[in-house]
Amino acid sequence: MKVRAQIGMVLNLDKCIGCHTCSVTCKNVWTSRPGVEYAWFNNVETKPGIGYPKEWENQGKWNGGWVRNADGSIEPRQGGKWKLLMRIFANPNLPQIDDYYEPFTFDYEHLQTAPEMKAAPAARPRSLITGQRMEKIEWGPNWEEILGGEFAKRSKDANLASFEQAQKEMVGQFENTFMMYLPRLCEHCLNPACVASCPSGSIYKREEDGIVLIDQDKCRGWRMCVSGCPYKKIYYNWQTGKAEKCIFCYPRIEAGQPTVCSETCVGRIRYLGVVLYDADKIEAAASVENEQDLYEAQLGVFLDPHDPRVSEQARKDGIPEAWIEGAKNSPVWKMAMDWKVALPLHPEYRTLPMVWYVPPLSPISQAANAGQVGLNGELPDVAEMRIPVEYLANLLTAGSTGPVIRALERMLAMRAWQRGKHVDGVENTAAL
Ligand code: SF4
Ligand code: SF4
Repeated sequence: MKVRAQIGMVLNLDKCIGCHTCSVTCKNVWTSRPGVEYAWFNNVETKPGIGYPKEWENQGKWNGGWVRNADGSIEPRQGGKWKLLMRIFANPNLPQIDDYYEPFTFDYEHLQTAPEMKAAPAARPRSLITGQRMEKIEWGPNWEEILGGEFAKRSKDANLASFEQAQKEMVGQFENTFMMYLPRLCEHCLNPACVASCPSGSIYKREEDGIVLIDQDKCRGWRMCVSGCPYKKIYYNWQTGKAEKCIFCYPRIEAGQPTVCSETCVGRIRYLGVVLYDADKIEAAASVENEQDLYEAQLGVFLDPHDPRVSEQARKDGIPEAWIEGAKNSPVWKMAMDWKVALPLHPEYRTLPMVWYVPPLSPISQAANAGQVGLNGELPDVAEMRIPVEYLANLLTAGSTGPVIRALERMLAMRAWQRGKHVDGVENTAAL
């Protein structure tokens, strides 16, 4: 057993209101510089939808994550053992600016200084990169929502990419539509594909807290990491010629403060915490044969911080006492590993991501109005809920519905208990 500490994040999707405060505050702090205008270390996308950058989940297109060989070994799709050759002969599969959408601002000067006229002046957008007026904006990371829910449909396909197909299937099915928000940042993976695909060895995972960083002095701008990261959370700075990514606000973490996105989150959906894991188990967990077993395999690498043998080994392995104690009270440990109400995003990419999500129950109000939530009512059947369990499973457990149903049922039971106590005024909680 080799004990390592990792800082992670859990996001409760039931509470995200899609306000983008997290994205804007992150941008103001970290990417309000020339060269990364288009980059959002944190973005919030509407699901179902193609996300940001467009179709980031389509690994057939971008060649990201790890691939499992017939002999059971794994290698990064981007390069693998051909990494050095690829850097000479092949370019990585890179998203273009249109895939991220061209960053724009409005012509505020015109808006404020135009002479009085019958119709109010329109603030035409200008490209932040070229400064030219843009005729139209064709797409944005929340486009599906802006279009009134063309994509917000009952679907088992997390990679739905065709407007036409969505439109056809939407006809007469409005009552089956749903929409949810998915805030995303670098996953600070336990088995990061970005590290494995970098020919310059410039990306590294910090020993002390697992934060994944890019050494700007070593980066040579090959951009294999941009393709290799299956979550598309590395961005090329076109002015410096180097790659950049979310740094999990490490200067703040070192000072005992939360990340900017967590501190400013309006819905208070983000929980930060330390977990302990066994570094000797990473490779085996990332290479299990069946994709649907990857979530359970990842769970298996974490260590119970309350086990005295774990604490003892952690001390021997140089983990500071404060982190060992922190792991015992960690909300990430509680929600993800202990209660199992939080799940990883796309474990099938085999990177063992460390930003986990509590799946959304919405729209819970229907069930509550029908008297189904509360100690006096029956819990609603999660299989009948408007956001299909299969859809959530495709996002969070590589298609395995069991863990999603377990998480939703636990959240429902907790909600019923709280409602019983605080709304219905029922003291007796024995029914649960
Ligand atoms: Fe690397 Fe972050 Fe992508 Fe994981 S999510 S592969 S740590 S850039
Ligand atoms: Fe969601 Fe919080 Fe971001 Fe608002 S600030 S979009 S509630 S994660």
